[in-house]
Amino acid sequence: MNAYLNGEFLPLAAARISPLDRGFLFGDGAYEVIPVYSRRPFRIAEHLRRLQDSLDGIRLANPLSPAGWQAVVERLVAEADFPDQSVYLQVTRGADDKREQAFPVGVSPTVFAFTSPLVAPSDAVRAAGVGAITVPDIRWAKCDLKAISLLANVLLRQQAVEAGCAEAIMLREGCLTEGAASNIFVVKAGVILTPPQDGHILPGITYDVVLELAARHGAPHEIRPVSEDELRTADELWMTSSTKEVLAIVNLDGQPVGRGERAGRPGPVTQRMHHWYTTFRDEVMRHADA
Ligand code: PMP
Repeated sequence: MNAYLNGEFLPLAAARISPLDRGFLFGDGAYEVIPVYSRRPFRIAEHLRRLQDSLDGIRLANPLSPAGWQAVVERLVAEADFPDQSVYLQVTRGADDKREQAFPVGVSPTVFAFTSPLVAPSDAVRAAGVGAITVPDIRWAKCDLKAISLLANVLLRQQAVEAGCAEAIMLREGCLTEGAASNIFVVKAGVILTPPQDGHILPGITYDVVLELAARHGAPHEIRPVSEDELRTADELWMTSSTKEVLAIVNLDGQPVGRGERAGRPGPVTQRMHHWYTTFRDEVMRHADA
């Protein structure tokens, strides 16, 4: 079975919810995406903690304990036909018998999860890097919550795709916030720069790993507002997410990132960070076996 819905494991194609579900009507819910390597979830405790934070942020009681979520994930992962997976978790405020914005009374949340093959960038894409466009950050003021209402992200990501790019990098009041589905890191004069977790970005699990690795390896880094000018004159750029890991951005708004003969190619700091990341991930996964 590759899906879970309200206490039952079932094939995804057989899962059914009400059209009055508040996830469907209002985007009233929260979600998580957990990467799984060789059937071992990576940083699951952190993902479940962030799910709790998102649910607290939208005032929705968590229907499952961490152990309950863990059991759901473990069973989906064990029963899948593929070892590397992306497990999606979602909770909505459930389905009432009417359409009313204020919270319904006595309605159970809808609890949904499914697993699918992990789609990571190919070696060729990773070696070449990807393009991005800049766009105004038109989202709401609670971007620290992993809410399922993603219309702004959808529109901006589509704009990127139509420009032949992989990501839309958002700018708010002259500063970088994040990508439509990723956090963004800038390298300038050997220093790794990334914006703070101030409510305008999602506290990325991969963002945290990258900053831990920068500290562990003594790589200079600063968590502070990053201006549009710093973004545009970056020596290197990369994005992070649970499924993309550390992925070089080599072209921004049609201009190569960086200068000189390395311009438009993944830079040395990016490559080093990607190496640290995969080494660390594999080390953690080996420990999970022990
Ligand atoms: N920001 C946004 C808006 C995202 O959707 C994602 C992907 N979930 C991220 C950042 C990266 O977060 P993570 O590293 O936890 O996948």
